[in-house]
Amino acid sequence: MNASGSPGLPGAGSATDPCVHCGFCLPSCASYRVLGTEMDSPRGRIHALKAIEAGELQLDTTVAQHFDSCLGCLACVTACPSGVRYDQLIEATRPKLNAPELRTPAQRAFRRLLFSLLPYPQRLRAVLTPLRAYAGTPLQALARRSGLTRLFGPQLEAMEQLLPPLAPEAFRDDYPAVVPAQGERRARVGLVLGCVQRLFDPAVNRATVEVLSANGIEVVIPQRQGCCGAATHHQGELEQTRELASALVESFAAAGPLDAVLVAASGCGHTLKHYGSILAEEPGWAGRGAAFAAQVRDAHEFLAQLGLSAAFQARLAPLSHPDGTPASAERPLAVAYHDACHMLHGQGIRDQPRQLLRRIPHLRVKEAVEAGVCCGSAGIYNLVQPVEAAELGRIKAADLAGTGADLAVSANIGCTLQIRQHMAEQERPLPVLHPLELLQRSWQAGAGSSR
Ligand code: SF4
Ligand code: SF4
Repeated sequence: MNASGSPGLPGAGSATDPCVHCGFCLPSCASYRVLGTEMDSPRGRIHALKAIEAGELQLDTTVAQHFDSCLGCLACVTACPSGVRYDQLIEATRPKLNAPELRTPAQRAFRRLLFSLLPYPQRLRAVLTPLRAYAGTPLQALARRSGLTRLFGPQLEAMEQLLPPLAPEAFRDDYPAVVPAQGERRARVGLVLGCVQRLFDPAVNRATVEVLSANGIEVVIPQRQGCCGAATHHQGELEQTRELASALVESFAAAGPLDAVLVAASGCGHTLKHYGSILAEEPGWAGRGAAFAAQVRDAHEFLAQLGLSAAFQARLAPLSHPDGTPASAERPLAVAYHDACHMLHGQGIRDQPRQLLRRIPHLRVKEAVEAGVCCGSAGIYNLVQPVEAAELGRIKAADLAGTGADLAVSANIGCTLQIRQHMAEQERPLPVLHPLELLQRSWQAGAGSSR
């Protein structure tokens, strides 16, 4: 309760004050796009926060639903000409939405299930092991076609829909503790593997390590690292986030001097860069959290700033089209770039991944029409709000496919899984890869060309 006796935000008054209700943020708001109601827009939620602060509105289940419908994509922060920090407002509001009386027992149980599984790779592996014979097989396709998966209920069905084929390496952590730099060492970095990325798309971490090493960067991979806490952070589960964050920082304690701590999943990167505030009130952790956060860089951000090594650049070769024809000046490979919200709006990283991709010969980056609008993944949003998320997923997949590109790229695992799912519904579905996978493939394709 605040001073006014309402369940509003302490200090929310000052943070909501700059909002002049102009509505410039509305076209970029993903929840407003699919729900179309003022209460599901940034302006409507800020208005509600002001009313709560003034004691004119109670945060009851109806009001809470309008905050739960927010994806936390932060597009409104980028769009706002008045500098309203909606990101801080929603971050301060999320923990209040977790009050037991604001959710049904079923909603609470489903969230508990997600938060007891997703941040723990070993537990997730135990649950996924029996599904290896199902995921990505004709059996899964048959179950979906027959409508059998609908019997699970909307939320478990949403989980099933996201389930990708499970690679054998998803079930083991066999990265070397240190991957040496190839050639002269230009930097020494730590790598955060991510938990969902490690399991659902292990090729991304492999590509990241190979690209970094081939660029003269030594990569330290702490073996006991767990989840960074992005999913729990996004949902206002503060205590669990602090536990996960402090454990991750601790797992890097023996890494030795590092030039940076890198991550190739932008949802994780956004949370890692907030460890200073996440751990600010943990006794003994405030300084360590801030020091760790200061080292964190998105892998593209770091590589673009350091620059590709001359040897790496010289070896990059054209990639092939889906029909096997190598890209050429006459027929370049067109790639539709997906801006992950926590990279674009959360970290202000737009140009660096595009710059790296453009270093690949005969590759052309195509822009989606609605590049700044969320794909609907948003942490666990596509599991807890499956209907709205599916609508956004369809819009995003259609937008990317509509560029006429040969493939799409996404630098965030949550977005990748969401877009792949909805790309399958497109008339001309595009493969969805990570930008660093394209760099890896181009470098591999050039083997022998520059040596
Ligand atoms: S948040 Fe910013 S853009 Fe949106 S209504 Fe308020 S002032 Fe306008
Ligand atoms: S964070 Fe995204 S979904 Fe939430 S109000 Fe802002 S633009 Fe809308």
